[in-house]
Amino acid sequence: MAAQLVDSFGRVHRDLRISVTDRCNFRCTYCMPAEGLEWVPRDDLLTFEEIARLARIMVERYGVNGIRLTGGEPTVRANLPVLVKMLAELDTDLAMTTNGVSLPLLAGDLRAAGLRRVNVSLDSLQASRFAELTRRDSLDRVLDGIDAAIAAGFDPVKVNCVVMRGLNDDEIADFVDFGRRKGVEVRFIEFMPLDADGIWTNDLVVGVDEILARVTDACPVEPVERTSAPATRYRFADGSGSVGIVASVSDSFCSTCDRVRLTADGQFRNCLFAVTETDVRALLRSGASDDEIGVALEGSVASKWAGHQINRVNFIKPRRSMSQIGG
Ligand code: SAM
Ligand code: SF4
Repeated sequence: MAAQLVDSFGRVHRDLRISVTDRCNFRCTYCMPAEGLEWVPRDDLLTFEEIARLARIMVERYGVNGIRLTGGEPTVRANLPVLVKMLAELDTDLAMTTNGVSLPLLAGDLRAAGLRRVNVSLDSLQASRFAELTRRDSLDRVLDGIDAAIAAGFDPVKVNCVVMRGLNDDEIADFVDFGRRKGVEVRFIEFMPLDADGIWTNDLVVGVDEILARVTDACPVEPVERTSAPATRYRFADGSGSVGIVASVSDSFCSTCDRVRLTADGQFRNCLFAVTETDVRALLRSGASDDEIGVALEGSVASKWAGHQINRVNFIKPRRSMSQIGG
């Protein structure tokens, strides 16, 4: 059997998230500060060749079968379709999470380069609220981006909505309608303590049960069988599509987590909430062999903890915010 990236709890890791930049053209209040976040210096960003080499090692040696591009905002990385083409050669389920604002321009090129799926983040369908939450007045552009993704043939197109109490939780029914109308799956995500401004409190988290109750009020649903994916999925009883809920705080899916992450500056993280990292960039730039890099990856995954400790006294907030890790 091929080698595996397996931890001490027996979880096999096959899902790689690659942050291609820490920069962003939005400043979402739950993710980035309005200003003052220092960008990674250009020379410290992994090159496309370095990213592709690492991805190849993970796919060919360890059977990684899913790669998701994220950031920061992945589409602000110049020539992104070139990287997509390089990664598409590895024949994995190649996806991207984006704020959607560049999709009207880029969706066709990304699809042609081999990107298979996109998730577009969208937290309000109201223009003024969208502008407050993202600090950018771009709702129409993001809605056009969703249409462009559908037109380019991405399948499925999903919409990620971070639900925050008192900020956008009154829009759950509107998002259900939106998803059904557009034929996209909306995934409601619990707000996690990875914001750069330190605004997170447990009171702002709208838990899975409450989200599900509001979804059901809007349209009856029935559960879809669970996989290792973080979202619990439900199909609408009238057959008009599906919806997902990512209960990252109240009912963490850590026990089935199969994800590892690579930051834009080449740090390998075995968990979204990890407080230590493995410096893969240093290995890549010091002439390390694939075997040596493999040893470092295996060691990192082997030392993964059972799960995050949000809301427990021993929880340590990672030094990096969500935009610096990649969601
Ligand atoms: N810029 C891209 C985007 O917005 O989709 C990709 C990077 S963003 C960090 C990835 C995902 O993380 C987005 O869906 C975003 O809504 C989510 N996110 C950011 N901060 C979060 C937080 N504090 N809690 C939960 N999700 C968060
Ligand atoms: Fe940028 Fe995405 Fe973070 Fe919003 S959630 S600030 S779009 S990285």
